[in-house]
Amino acid sequence: MEDAFGHQISYLRVSVTDRCNERCRYCMPEEEQAWFPKEEVLSYEEMLRVLRVGAGLGIKKVRVTGGEPLTRPGVADFCAQIAAIPGIEQIGISTNGTLLSKEEQGETIAARLVKAGVQSANVSLDSLDRAAYQRSTSRDLLPKVLDGIDAAIDAGFRSIRLNCVLMKNQTEREFVPLIDYARSKDALLRFIELMPVSTQDVLSEANFLSTSHAKQMVEQHYGPLTPLPDFKTNGPATYYAIPATGQKIGFIGAMTNLHFCENCNKLRLTSDGKLRPCLGSYLEFDLREALRAGCSDEELATLIHNVVARKPKEHDFRDNYQPNRKMIAIGG
Ligand code: SAM
Ligand code: SF4
Repeated sequence: MEDAFGHQISYLRVSVTDRCNERCRYCMPEEEQAWFPKEEVLSYEEMLRVLRVGAGLGIKKVRVTGGEPLTRPGVADFCAQIAAIPGIEQIGISTNGTLLSKEEQGETIAARLVKAGVQSANVSLDSLDRAAYQRSTSRDLLPKVLDGIDAAIDAGFRSIRLNCVLMKNQTEREFVPLIDYARSKDALLRFIELMPVSTQDVLSEANFLSTSHAKQMVEQHYGPLTPLPDFKTNGPATYYAIPATGQKIGFIGAMTNLHFCENCNKLRLTSDGKLRPCLGSYLEFDLREALRAGCSDEELATLIHNVVARKPKEHDFRDNYQPNRKMIAIGG
């Protein structure tokens, strides 16, 4: 599938739940508790139907996300069913890591995900300091996350990425511990610019730390970073190497990188059945009603094509964008 601006669409992010066991202050502040009613959330069968039809249209990569996807029972079995869809080549999961080491049917959830065919795990990690982690997420769950990362390593994911959202007056203290930890775990660390996907006051001068500023701070400690223009993962991160160790680190500059959207290949399915052509746009199109009204696969394919046709050239984040939905309700 190709949109009006030449974006080749091959990647679908599926949010399986808007619920979460943490309350990151840039994503889901403590007071926000309005979950979707159960009947509004797509069943796994409904999601699989969208994925099957999507795979027929060229979707090859799927990322399971949320909310916290591992709070929804049955995610590993859901992933195994995704892996069985012809045409789906890669499956990843985005998680806060708190439940990866939990035992289910005699093994860790991480091991169950790998057995189900999930190749990559993106784990959010803003701090290695327990008190700072708690301030950031409103939960004292850092030890669980670190156990979860170890469980993910033991489980044998092909790639483990650690994602840290850049917050002024917070992340400055985290660069060195996070970079050294990521190296010790052979995980790929990325720093993500704060985006306006939560309450409006989160993205403020007081909180925003740009990737270029972050890079300068990393360089103050590790020396000049070497650009790696040919190193790519599935997303829009820009990668560099630390010369002394060869460790790669990524920067995701959603706000300041003017080329951010050029190679976008994604669609997002929200847990309540809306297909969104862009994280940073108000556009969303309801698939749930069509699914529940008994639409045919051809009709579903036409709906998906129509969403692709409306994919914008780039996000609206720099344009005084005010979120109409929280990240938790879209799927990161
Ligand atoms: N609960 C999982 C997790 O935390 O990784 C998956 C969902 S979360 C919404 C996906 C990603 O979005 C996380 O890496 C999180 O840090 C990021 N995120 C959430 N709110 C954000 C914001 N306002 N700006 C930038 N990234 C954000
Ligand atoms: Fe939950 Fe992930 Fe949002 Fe944090 S970033 S509140 S862990 S969904």
